[in-house]
Amino acid sequence: MSVDTCRICGLLHDPSDEEDRKIHAEIHKKLARGSQPIKVRDFSKAFGWAVAFNDGGLDRMKDHYDPELGKLVVAFSWWSRALSNGVPEKDFDRYMDAHLAFADSLVSGIGQVEARAAIQKWGRFDG
Ligand SMILES: [Zn+2]
Repeated sequence: MSVDTCRICGLLHDPSDEEDRKIHAEIHKKLARGSQPIKVRDFSKAFGWAVAFNDGGLDRMKDHYDPELGKLVVAFSWWSRALSNGVPEKDFDRYMDAHLAFADSLVSGIGQVEARAAIQKWGRFDG
């Protein structure tokens, strides 16, 4: 058996274990409908409060977050917009994989042309 950490939901799971696959699929179904992983919600709240209070919180936040989480927050925002524009929920996993790869390419400056081509098919849900 081997354990993977899902880049989208953060779940540690064994893809060869049927029970794990079921639990994982359930989580993704909820996310596909518009809910967000707790670390994404926590980030939004921390960011929102830091801006609302404007007492140096933004500065204190800057070393506490992983760039991976930043990309995830952006990708979930994109998904939320696509959902409100009618993207099929069944596209969730492929949409997120392609858009996280696109975010990677923007940050690294590598492979942008290919990554942009891979998200093209969802362009009509950008709105
Ligand atoms: Zn997952």
